[in-house]
Amino acid sequence: MIKALFERLRQGHRTMKFPAEGLQLPHRALGLPEVKSSRLEKAAAACPYGAIGSAGLDLGRCVFCGACAKADPAAVEFSRDYRLCASSRAGLEVNSGAHARAEALGAELRSLFGRSFKLRQVSAGGCNACEADCNVLGTVGWDMGRFGIQFVASPRHADGLLVTGPVTKNMELALRKTWDAMPSPKVAIACGACAIDGGPYAGHPECHGLPADIPVSLYIPGCPPHPLTILDGLLRLLGRIE
Ligand code: SF4
Repeated sequence: MIKALFERLRQGHRTMKFPAEGLQLPHRALGLPEVKSSRLEKAAAACPYGAIGSAGLDLGRCVFCGACAKADPAAVEFSRDYRLCASSRAGLEVNSGAHARAEALGAELRSLFGRSFKLRQVSAGGCNACEADCNVLGTVGWDMGRFGIQFVASPRHADGLLVTGPVTKNMELALRKTWDAMPSPKVAIACGACAIDGGPYAGHPECHGLPADIPVSLYIPGCPPHPLTILDGLLRLLGRIE
């Protein structure tokens, strides 16, 4: 027992400071891209998922493979900025202008969820990458619970539905039942390229995407999104950071 206590003292406090100034994604991770040119043809031709068009780069479709930046570094460059989330689908479009960050919920919802936000997670055909990065937020290094955010086992206890995966036909009913079982008011969150726009499965006949009548309040881009991106989006949604 005494050994365990000494070990605990030796290890000290392990939870990361978030949001700390200057915090960046790890060296090999790709963050917010900068669109540096209006001539995007070469970068668009290199993109395997059609995420680049004349309007710019669609973070909702992007899987952050980096092929566009390799093909035309003068047109697209990725930073290590983890602040990628948006409140609307249109807000995920990155062009030469400033990227709009996710906005906070209205005052009424913030007063309800701001200090205690329970999430029910549904993997609707996900590959477990987004799920793993959500899961890591509960570990000692991240300790999402210190912000009052927790994943719960029952939709009856949840304020928010966090969806991962492209919503396969087989998961459609489970997703619908989960949403219907959640008490109002409630919010929906699309986490990862698949939940936002189908990801690599966009257009597949077995993948239907989030039903239009489930309104999404937060889009978290990435394939998978880095835990920093997920936590940043959730705290912005709750008005805990600006
Ligand atoms: S990083 Fe995104 S936009 Fe660039 S090629 Fe890959 S998927 Fe397309």
